[in-house]
Amino acid sequence: MKIDIKGLDSRETEDLVVGLGMEAFRGRQIRQWIFKRLACSFEDMTDLPKSMRALLKERASMGPIEKIKHQVSEDGTEKYLFRLSDGVSIESVLIPEKDHYTLCVSSQAGCAMGCRFCLTAKQGLKRNLKPSEIVDQVIQVKQSMDEPDRMTNIVLMGMGEPLANYDAVVKAIRILVSDEGANFSHRKVTLSTCGLIPQMKQLGQDVTVNLAISLNAADDTTRSFLMPINKKYPLKDLIEACKDFPLPNRRMLTFEYILIEGVNDRNADARELCNLLSSLRAKINLIPLNSHTGLNMSPPPMDKILKFMEILLENHFTAIIRKSKGNDILAACGQLSGTHTC
Ligand code: SAH
Repeated sequence: MKIDIKGLDSRETEDLVVGLGMEAFRGRQIRQWIFKRLACSFEDMTDLPKSMRALLKERASMGPIEKIKHQVSEDGTEKYLFRLSDGVSIESVLIPEKDHYTLCVSSQAGCAMGCRFCLTAKQGLKRNLKPSEIVDQVIQVKQSMDEPDRMTNIVLMGMGEPLANYDAVVKAIRILVSDEGANFSHRKVTLSTCGLIPQMKQLGQDVTVNLAISLNAADDTTRSFLMPINKKYPLKDLIEACKDFPLPNRRMLTFEYILIEGVNDRNADARELCNLLSSLRAKINLIPLNSHTGLNMSPPPMDKILKFMEILLENHFTAIIRKSKGNDILAACGQLSGTHTC
């Protein structure tokens, strides 16, 4: 079995090259090729002697995932479909913002959490991604960009529940924020979770990242109806865990709240949400439900959404309505399935 070089940290890369009889500094050189110069193959690494490149090619692999489809939405959002070596597929979404790009990466093929509104949930969990398969989404999308340095933000918000694939996700984050790796600022990496409390606690100790919680309801009955994980980790415990989470400097926790007509969109729900979050520094992202076939729920009308937001603002929360991007190519939140569409 070849070693997946994109899943190694700098120490492990050095160990690999030293084990192959090369000097340790070659490890740094190789990482520069991979992360800064975005090399596609060992052959591209032209300042390594030919014999080294041949040896590396024999022992290590540069391509754990293969890009098989690229779609561009009317609004500029881009969706990438990748095939993994065992044939399963995942998706990543590149989102243009005012002055930078954000890449939304997948952490699992499929998902086991079973949230009622999410398309990824319908397929169940296929498997966890390896660190290299998470990191390579970033590298391969950068390779296809005209100005790869403009991808400054990463959100672990694609397919899967990142905290259910804890070790691989933490390793990938470390590689992505390492200055000898992809060199992202840890302030610009956000992990989104449905609320796996033990792993949230561990995460705060292991890495510095922003945390987003998919809340979607302010009472246990509604949340358990929408998100089965709430039966295991109910709201009171979740909020306690949020209070304890050590955020990067002066950052706020983000709470995602999908608005679903007749389910969680009443004025009383907004007020309950304010009560629930009253002890936290919180930013609330309101996401009108994105529909997909087979979903018997719909987003509320805009006036209802605006009213909901107004109540949050009156209560001094930071709240925004997150415009859905890439709807026409099924690239919006909860629409990723890893299948060929369109
Ligand atoms: N498992 C993680 C990350 C993946 S879901 C989590 O739960 O946070 C990413 C975001 O998409 C979550 O905030 C989720 O609430 C949202 N989402 C899922 N399905 C959606 C849908 N149909 N419409 C709008 N947002 C959705």
